[in-house]
Amino acid sequence: MPEYNIQMVDLKSQYDKIKDQVDEAILSVIDSTAFIKGPEVTEFKRELQEYLSVKHVIPCGNGTDALQIALMALGLKPGDEVITADFTFAATVEVIGLLNLTPVFVDVDRDTFNINVEALEKAITSKTKAIIPVHLFGQCANMEAVMAIAKTHNLFVVEDTAQAIGADYSFSNGDVKKAGTIGNIGTTSFFPSKNLGCYGDGGALFTNDDELGKRLAAIVNHGMYQRYYHDEIGVNSRLDSIQAAILRIKLPHLDNYSASRKKAAEYYNNAFAGIDQIETPVTDQQSTHVFHQYTLKLKGVDRNKLQEYLKERGIPSMIYYPVPLHQQKAYVRPEFKDEDYPVTMELCGSVISLPMHTELDEKQLKYITESVKEFFK
Ligand SMILES: *Cc1c(COP(=O)(O)O)cnc(C)c1O
Repeated sequence: MPEYNIQMVDLKSQYDKIKDQVDEAILSVIDSTAFIKGPEVTEFKRELQEYLSVKHVIPCGNGTDALQIALMALGLKPGDEVITADFTFAATVEVIGLLNLTPVFVDVDRDTFNINVEALEKAITSKTKAIIPVHLFGQCANMEAVMAIAKTHNLFVVEDTAQAIGADYSFSNGDVKKAGTIGNIGTTSFFPSKNLGCYGDGGALFTNDDELGKRLAAIVNHGMYQRYYHDEIGVNSRLDSIQAAILRIKLPHLDNYSASRKKAAEYYNNAFAGIDQIETPVTDQQSTHVFHQYTLKLKGVDRNKLQEYLKERGIPSMIYYPVPLHQQKAYVRPEFKDEDYPVTMELCGSVISLPMHTELDEKQLKYITESVKEFFK
């Protein structure tokens, strides 16, 4: 066992570096008692708009709420179909079901883990109204193709950016846009372990559409466009001032945080280069990778045995995700056939994610990679 404590995500070491600022900001919100909708929230919203180069940021309670609110704002009707990836966290599809919309899952690309655009196009029917591409593990889905398909079929696009805030997507015409600012609406989460995490729950929506911006701002606040006039059914979903104050301190570090993650990923990549049973992550030509997760594909390896071995050496690992959405009890439907999801099926059985965060140092990386190499000797 190493004398240092290796974690999947080390929030404490990150906090230690900004402790004075964070503690002061929290105390100052308490002192102001502006806990809800205070100036910290307004300022954070403005700063995030600037960082993302997007016209509207609407903070909300968490990333799942953000997805739900996005779908509410698009005015979809029960029975409308919403297409998303079979290989993602369940929050993405949960909200589709909650709104009585019909989730339709499609397979993903083996290289990027993101929605496969050929499968996407095939899944479109006359009932399809929206696509939710998920920018999984820190890199963008094939947004150029997704936007072209959406345009041809007149569909809305909601980008689930919970794992990829700060990633840049380059279009072939040279345009570069931040993840979450390409479709009609982008959503994100500030859950503590996300790339831009607060110290509780938080989330946000992004849009460049003024009408949608107004509608989203009303829906998060009980459907009020004017105080105590409720024009439509909304929800109560707020980012509180303490979380906003913490996020204001962390946002200026986000690009450095992404760089630290990338550096750790490169260390892993180099160390694993010669191991035949391991495929390291592929970085897409059109997207930068902010490495929310560092995920390997294993070939002919007993994954449980590897996890057990790593655990004995004090190295945590996780399986994101072990079960495809089309097989989850809550979403299973007779028309979903395993053979339509060959890549997702393979990935669920072969992926493993190693520790990835902003504070991984050379000593830890060396220990982790040497241990993995030892296993494959
Ligand atoms: C974390 C996550 C969410 C949900 O965010 P919460 O803030 O936990 O509600 C949604 N989608 C994806 C892909 C996520 O990783």
